[in-house]
Amino acid sequence: MSQKVNISITKTAKSRLAETDFDNLPFGKTFSDHMFMADYSDGEWKNFQILPYGEIGISPAISALHYGQSFFEGIKAYKHADGKVAIFRPDKNGERFNLSAQRLCMPELPVEIFLQSIATLVDLDRDWVPGKENHSLYIRPFMFATDPYLGVNPSGSYKYMVLTGPVGPYFSKNLKVKIETHYSRACDGGFGFAKAAGNYGGSMLPSLKATQEGFDQLIWTDSREHAYIEELGAANVMFLMDGTLVTPSTRDTILKGVTRDTVLTLAKKWNVNIEERRISVDEIITGIKEGRITDAFGVGTAATIAHIAEIGHQGELYTLPDPAKRVFSNKVLNTLNDLRYGRSADEFGWNYPV
Ligand code: PMP
Repeated sequence: MSQKVNISITKTAKSRLAETDFDNLPFGKTFSDHMFMADYSDGEWKNFQILPYGEIGISPAISALHYGQSFFEGIKAYKHADGKVAIFRPDKNGERFNLSAQRLCMPELPVEIFLQSIATLVDLDRDWVPGKENHSLYIRPFMFATDPYLGVNPSGSYKYMVLTGPVGPYFSKNLKVKIETHYSRACDGGFGFAKAAGNYGGSMLPSLKATQEGFDQLIWTDSREHAYIEELGAANVMFLMDGTLVTPSTRDTILKGVTRDTVLTLAKKWNVNIEERRISVDEIITGIKEGRITDAFGVGTAATIAHIAEIGHQGELYTLPDPAKRVFSNKVLNTLNDLRYGRSADEFGWNYPV
């Protein structure tokens, strides 16, 4: 049975497109003309609407503000060589949206409505999808609790919204990263696997400290011993060790990245040996010293592939092989770009046309 809903559309009286500088797009600061909004109350989703991007009125007592009943997703749409627009694997984000919702006692949104909301919004603002290489339209679906009630209980009402905006390359340089052995992003039994707003608020201080020490990002380790690698900033992390692609296995402290799945699927197709398992910090440091790690990179929607050039650990700085000469990660990046910009056959059905 189709779950499609009626969406009321109110168009902007004046588009901001002409005054937007597409050659200067800092991440997350430029928003397209329209946004999507729906309400949840009395056990159902309702009021599906697209309206001009702008401020919304909310009570200062909403539990999203006080207790963090709030989560989000990040997706990208690309303009293909033939001018068509496609969203990359949004169904996976729709599934993860509901994992986050469950963990935070928030209502699920049928994936079909999630996809319809995004596709309708991107279609309306399709002129905002940049055409240049490494550029895309970033899509930010999110949900938050709206009951004006200060009790620490799940809210009865929620808003689901989607914003979009054109973006350029996220990490423009190769990364100097620090292995974090004091702070944690997530803990066992916590909600690191959800895209909960609070996970990102809590990561800002450790990230800021790492920046002050001269690093671009940090590698998160497990919260019990700080002995095992978990993620890289807001991305999953992968290494090529003795020719095998190794990445931390997903668990409750690790976000199950869509790009992670994409890269593993490509690696399988290329008959690369893959290990999803716990990876110790010692193993990585020894591997670098012995020259057995030939590639190291973060994978995520925002960054795509972020090469790790240097790793700092316990006051030592370890240099990895020249990112420009790395075969695997550069092949992944080129293959992914060809797929997402519609230059190669979509053999996995990853492009969702708009
Ligand atoms: N880990 C974290 C903590 C993230 O925020 C992200 C970005 N969503 C990722 C990994 C990568 O996930 P994806 O490939 O789905 O963007």
